[in-house]
Amino acid sequence: MGFIIFRLIIFIGIVWLGIRLLKAYNQRKLQSQSNGTASEKRAADSQQMVQCRYCNLHLPQSDAVKHENLWFCCHEHKQHFLDSGPEKK
Ligand SMILES: [Zn+2]
Repeated sequence: MGFIIFRLIIFIGIVWLGIRLLKAYNQRKLQSQSNGTASEKRAADSQQMVQCRYCNLHLPQSDAVKHENLWFCCHEHKQHFLDSGPEKK
């Protein structure tokens, strides 16, 4: 009788260990997934949109051309804007 109980305890222990390992594995998988989306979100936040002062086009700051505190979609528009001045259209 004692032997059956001993085997039952061993069996429960193995099942419990299996469940724990599976949970830990799933948790690690979820954590890595959530970390991935979080870093993607942070990357999207740092991609601030700016407006070209010449043609009013919206584009990410990384693709824009900066002149003092003004943003342009390309060097041509920056040059056009500087040549014609901010008042003239
Ligand atoms: Zn432009």
